[in-house]
Amino acid sequence: MSTPLIDPFARPINYLRVSVTDRCDFRCVYCMAENMTFLPKKELLSLEELDRMCSTFVRLGVEKLRITGGEPLVRRDIMSFFAKMTRHLESGALRELTVTTNGSQLRRFARQLADCGVRRINVSLDTLDEKKFADITRWGRLAQVLDGIDAAQEAGLRIKINTVALKGFNEDELFTLQEWCAERGMDLTFIEVMPMGDLGNEDRLDQYWSLKDLRGRLAERFTLHDLAERTGGPARYVQLEETGQKIGFITPLTHNFCESCNRVRLTCTGELYMCLGQEDMADLRAPLRASEGDGQLEEAIRAAIARKPKGHDFDYSRQKVDGQMTRHMSHTGG
Ligand code: SAM
Ligand code: SF4
Repeated sequence: MSTPLIDPFARPINYLRVSVTDRCDFRCVYCMAENMTFLPKKELLSLEELDRMCSTFVRLGVEKLRITGGEPLVRRDIMSFFAKMTRHLESGALRELTVTTNGSQLRRFARQLADCGVRRINVSLDTLDEKKFADITRWGRLAQVLDGIDAAQEAGLRIKINTVALKGFNEDELFTLQEWCAERGMDLTFIEVMPMGDLGNEDRLDQYWSLKDLRGRLAERFTLHDLAERTGGPARYVQLEETGQKIGFITPLTHNFCESCNRVRLTCTGELYMCLGQEDMADLRAPLRASEGDGQLEEAIRAAIARKPKGHDFDYSRQKVDGQMTRHMSHTGG
């Protein structure tokens, strides 16, 4: 292996999130506009290029790869990419290959994912109410996702449910979701809604439900034990004494996780974002396409990591969203 990636603040970069497509079969209101224009195919990294890109990062010390999107499982032939990544799991260079999905395609792909060495997946689900599900995803069908979750459990995949906390939308489902996950042996993580994308049609400040408040409500019913477990990301975990269940809180708008940040994000066009909350990025597609060898690409990755900022710049406290990012989550992959 080459010298591992260490950023200017002495943080080892060993976690890469890769968006493999900007497309999706849903149109969640906080994530996409209803009429999205997607990128032309030639802009996207091909599956072979994604393999080269990820393999180079693995050679540089990345041990955890999370595949996301858009909806990663709608990309044509994506299973051949997962199958290619299996060799890095088998060699021991990669410790974990995971995926974040909306669950719609799991009935079709869960078994293949498991065969490729995927052990845990994140499934995004904001509500267990069919009508509300149709409203929030615009195009999704709850039954299909629930069936996908069944398929994933049948295939032996461990599931973490990710739920965006939305004021006036799923506040009343806090305990329903918690109980449903407990019954099925699934962990549950709540995500604070982020000011991504354009605020044109939906005002995300109106939807903002603080996880501090959510945690307070959980504490009225359960005894919460803080877990020391850290992932290098914006998640904190508690264990509910009564059920043994793990509940996570992702508060991307606070800065208090930046000091341990171990991750970078690659878009489906080969842009590397060094920080979720800042616009700076490095184009890795040009050096990748410039030659058949990976030397230039490796150099470009090292140069990018050398620019990784100390922390990000969101700020909700200023009642207007000054730190707001103009790109969508489906672009950087959440
Ligand atoms: N399509 C897959 C899915 O939904 O899981 C993967 C991509 S999606 C962009 C990744 C995660 O980002 C999802 O859990 C989604 O709920 C979350 N997300 C999207 N927009 C968000 C926003 N504005 N604030 C907080 N989370 C957001
Ligand atoms: Fe698609 Fe995921 Fe965005 Fe929803 S959150 S529109 S499922 S990419």
